[in-house]
Amino acid sequence: MILSTMQDFPLSVAAILRHGARVYGRSECVTWTGGGAPRRATFAQIAGNAERLASALAGLGVRPGDRVATFCWNNQEHLEAYFAVPAMGAVLHTLNIRLFPEQLSHIINHADDQVVIVDDTLVPLLARVVHELPAVEAFVVVGDGDASALEANANGAPVLRYHTLLAAEEPGYAWPEVDERSAASMCYTSGTTGDPKGVVYSHRSTFLHAMAVQSASLVGITEADRVLTIVPMFHVNAWGLPYGAFLSGATLHMPGPFMQPEHLAKFIAAERSTLASAVPTIWNGILALGEREEIDLSSLRAGTSGGAAAPRVLLERFERRYGLRIIQGWGMTETSPLGGMAFPPPGVEPGTDEDMYWRLKSGRVAAGVEMRIVDDSGAELPWDGESVGEIEVRGPWITGAYHRDPAPGKFDDGWLRTGDIGTIDDRGFYQITDRAKDVIKSGGEWISSVELENHLMAHPAVAEAAVIGVPDARWDERPLACVVLRPEASAAPAELASFLADKVARWQVPEYWTFLDEIPKTTVGKFDKKPLRARHRDAALEIEHVER
Ligand code: AMP
Repeated sequence: MILSTMQDFPLSVAAILRHGARVYGRSECVTWTGGGAPRRATFAQIAGNAERLASALAGLGVRPGDRVATFCWNNQEHLEAYFAVPAMGAVLHTLNIRLFPEQLSHIINHADDQVVIVDDTLVPLLARVVHELPAVEAFVVVGDGDASALEANANGAPVLRYHTLLAAEEPGYAWPEVDERSAASMCYTSGTTGDPKGVVYSHRSTFLHAMAVQSASLVGITEADRVLTIVPMFHVNAWGLPYGAFLSGATLHMPGPFMQPEHLAKFIAAERSTLASAVPTIWNGILALGEREEIDLSSLRAGTSGGAAAPRVLLERFERRYGLRIIQGWGMTETSPLGGMAFPPPGVEPGTDEDMYWRLKSGRVAAGVEMRIVDDSGAELPWDGESVGEIEVRGPWITGAYHRDPAPGKFDDGWLRTGDIGTIDDRGFYQITDRAKDVIKSGGEWISSVELENHLMAHPAVAEAAVIGVPDARWDERPLACVVLRPEASAAPAELASFLADKVARWQVPEYWTFLDEIPKTTVGKFDKKPLRARHRDAALEIEHVER
């Protein structure tokens, strides 16, 4: 081997921070306050505060490799922790604020978190489990709100105030040189099946992923952008936007606890956000608000949607009503998360059927990610847009293991088994048709629940739809459509079935229907089919039958 002459320069979170602070020191992080003036801090100020925070954490005994958790909304202080903790060599563990108490204490203990930084408004949620966290040595509360619930049960661990800690420190922390392969941060999967699993990101994976986020074939943010980060910072690195912003200079808009569509729309209008990123449920909420009152989305040049399939009708309504192009991306906690975005190929006219065809794809394989689909026997399937199998991925920002969890069956000879079922075409556009655990196999043939849901949600009377497989004596399984109607709308099962009849093969049209007030959602706002299956098993759903 001949060695190159290139420097062996470690890719690190500190390098991202240095770049943002020096080159884009005037770019801002703007935190929405719900009414009064938003809070503003420049990237240069964020960097100074990150240095102070690192000094304070070191003073609390945090050493390289130690875990520091955050239990926070999207806000300036969370961003400071995003940089300070990894840059000092410790590991940032972002906690999902919507977890059940038992899951929350499980992951804090499993990760061995030593310090927890918590927003004052979230103190009551954390306080529910604080007596079960023997290893936590200190709590740091952001804001001046009441923290007595924590203090009462903290087993002697000090409950300190973020701003007091920072005020006692000076900027100028000397960031250590880290091994780029060492842990920078960690996030647990949402764990809809079994216990959540820990994914640990390295400095190298974080840097490379942030570079990818900036590229035009993925999110493509630049200094001219103001990015409304609706996707929570506790959910897979907020899709890489905070680190991508420091590399590109894009201003960050942080909604704090004000996640309601009314607040998001006001934020966009007031601060002229140019790009917003959210799961389809949130986009839907903004659309519904726009039906009730006038909202101004004119500053948005694009939106991104991921985490679940965006229904066609959602993309169409935003485009028609607001001229807003929402582009879908696919990813997972295990993939940092970006695996690809579905930008149509060149020559496709925006607003046409062909354009929508491409935009309904889940993504196009991102540079840096390798993908394949395999059948049940593990044999690789062709990239023909038709063969359906499990998607597997590998690459520098794809996990190769889980934290302290052997996870048998999750890896296939160096490839991550995503548990997503779909197709991939000869240009690398892929389409997720189901989660492996959600597939419906009827008479030996697959029915895509995602496709049925997509069509159903295009019916004017339907607000939400989730389709699950239910046991059937003749066909093994048949689809059951769980439908939420729009307020004051009505539609009988027969009408919805005939609406589907010319859109999917006849045998795929569900004959079982149930109407609900709401589709259950996961902690990050995706449809959660597990409770629906349980309710069906317990005969707790009122089912209507339509002759096929
Ligand atoms: P999480 O780890 O919570 O981010 O969930 C990852 C899962 O979300 C993936 O494995 C997919 O099942 C689903 N997902 C993410 N993006 C999409 C998308 N664009 N279309 C369909 N499903 C998606």
